[in-house]
Amino acid sequence: MSMNPAQVAGADVAELRQLVATCTACELCRGAKMGVPGEGPLPTEIMFIGEAPGFHEDQQGTPFIGAAGQFLNELLGKIGLDRSDVYITNVVKHRPPGNRDPLPDEMAACRPYLDRQIELVDPKMIVTLGRFSMARWFPGGRISQIHGQPKTVDGRIIVPMYHPAAALHQAALKATIEADFLKLPRYLADMRQLLQVEEAAEKPQPEQARLF
Ligand code: URA
Repeated sequence: MSMNPAQVAGADVAELRQLVATCTACELCRGAKMGVPGEGPLPTEIMFIGEAPGFHEDQQGTPFIGAAGQFLNELLGKIGLDRSDVYITNVVKHRPPGNRDPLPDEMAACRPYLDRQIELVDPKMIVTLGRFSMARWFPGGRISQIHGQPKTVDGRIIVPMYHPAAALHQAALKATIEADFLKLPRYLADMRQLLQVEEAAEKPQPEQARLF
C-alpha cells in the first residue's frame, strides 16, 4: 500500500506501526525484511532520532539493537536512563541495502512518519544521532563543529550528536559522545524550567494582583 500522508498525519501509534509495516512509498521496503517504526513511551521527554535500521533492526523490527544500540544503552545508563525511558526512532523506517546512506527521496518519503511521531511523542528534547537527522534542524551544519550544542526550535531543545556507530569506528570520538551525553540532563532541566516559566506567564493573573 502506498502511503497517504493525510492518513499518517491523523494516525495514532498503533496505526502508524501498521502504516510503516505496509509502506511502499519508496524503494527501501523491497530489500528490507520489515519496517522499524520506533519505540518508547508516549508522551516522552527525550526522543532520539538515528539514521536507518541496520541488519539486526531489520530482523527484529526494533531500532538500535545492534552494536550501535548497545553503545546507546551504555550512554543512557551513564545519565541514569534506561531505553524504556526514552523514545527511539530513525529518519527512515526500512533498512537501506547494505546499510548504505538513505537517499534524499527516501528521507522525504518517510518524513510524514517522523513528523507524526514528533507530534505524538511531544518531547522536550530531541537528540539527533548522526548527520541525517541533524540536517533537519541544522541544515548545512557540520557535526564536528556543532555536536553537543543545543538550539531551541518550536519549544523543544534539539541537541546534535555524533552517531554512536561513529564512536565504534573511531575510538577518539567515544569520549566526545560521552561528554556530550553528560550534558543532556542539564539541558533537559533548563528546558523544563523554561516551559514552567512560560506556563506560569500564560496563566490568568490572580484577582488580587489586578487591584494594583
Ligand atoms: N543505526 C541507526 O541509525 N539506527 C538504528 O536503528 C540502528 C543503527
